[in-house]
Amino acid sequence: MTNDTSGDVRLSGIAKTYGSFTAVHPLDLTVPQGSFFALLGASGCGKTTTLRMIAGLEEPSAGTVHLGEQNVTALPPYKRPVNTVFQSYALFPHLDIFENVAFGLRRRGIKSVKKQVEDMLELVQLGEQARKKPHQLSGGQQQRVAVARALINHPKVLLLDEPLGALDLKLRRQMQLELKRIQTEVGITFVHVTHDQEEAMTMADTVAVMNAGRVEQLGSPTDLYENPRTTFVANFLGTSNFIEAEVDSKSGDDIVLKAGGGKLVLPEERCSAPTTTGGKVLVGVRPEKISLIPAEDAGEIPEGRNRITGRIADSSFIGVSTQYVIDSPVCPEFEVYAQNIDRDTRLVPGAEVVLHWNPAHTFGLDASQDID
Ligand code: ATP
Repeated sequence: MTNDTSGDVRLSGIAKTYGSFTAVHPLDLTVPQGSFFALLGASGCGKTTTLRMIAGLEEPSAGTVHLGEQNVTALPPYKRPVNTVFQSYALFPHLDIFENVAFGLRRRGIKSVKKQVEDMLELVQLGEQARKKPHQLSGGQQQRVAVARALINHPKVLLLDEPLGALDLKLRRQMQLELKRIQTEVGITFVHVTHDQEEAMTMADTVAVMNAGRVEQLGSPTDLYENPRTTFVANFLGTSNFIEAEVDSKSGDDIVLKAGGGKLVLPEERCSAPTTTGGKVLVGVRPEKISLIPAEDAGEIPEGRNRITGRIADSSFIGVSTQYVIDSPVCPEFEVYAQNIDRDTRLVPGAEVVLHWNPAHTFGLDASQDID
């Protein structure tokens, strides 16, 4: 990171209401210059409204927007050092690719545009396509033209509103990497809106998970995945098992919990619930962190692992792994994905098994939340 703050986006108490409906609750958020930031959430959670308030396309009901040191809250979109790429690329169909990209420069009265446009087309790897019309390009190429067109005026911040939503899955994956490459190359702040968790995780340095007009959690993709603080975040970014447990005692930096007659260990730093003795904690563990072993082999499990017993209710082969559904006294329908390279023929429905995992992969949540 540099000391340049001209591309910082700072939202202070920004909110949006429509009549009595609150689309975005007062929100404080700082996006540092040069980062790739994603606003992630389900349809209707307020992410587009937040983006539009940064762009100046939506007037906030309260709060301020700063871009760098400048308070831009009252500025119209065209006076802000930002540009937006939308899902519908809205290229000019009668202009060729070169002229589409040159448009912003020509509108500002700049005469010699050739070098800048060519550089920009190189950046998005469309140097060969300059004289084609938009309809002669693929969806992914058209989207790259839209990005080039948005970047040609050197905005401090590029806003992207579901830019890959219209592309098929394969192309979307290619474009995710492509956008990430472009962002690294130009080094400006990207704020990207998406409902696709994989997309946010692939591209962004920092992700804000939004739910019902609020940021539920902010962090790096790894942090959000490994250490979710709410069931919503745990479920939105993948699958999780939840076990209802009770705080029994503390042991060094760990909390010892009682669950279904057994004990589980949870590093205290990974617990966002109160840890007073007798308090309830929802223990979470990602399915792929769990190993599965026939009960008769339980003696082979190394010391220090969390373990629970159960019975295989169902199993399905899903390509790289086998997904097991386990009935356990501590957690009905415990889901386990096991990397089953040496397939153990004893892991069949009805088999008694032990599930075990490293306590470091356990997270503890406030137990008053809904699991779903
Ligand atoms: P999507 O991915 O579907 O676009 P989103 O998370 O971007 O969803 P927003 O578009 O920000 O959600 O909308 C947030 C909420 O505000 C929604 O419930 C939406 O219906 C509501 N909303 C948005 N614009 C208006 C408006 N002009 N008038 C009334 N309600 C609105």
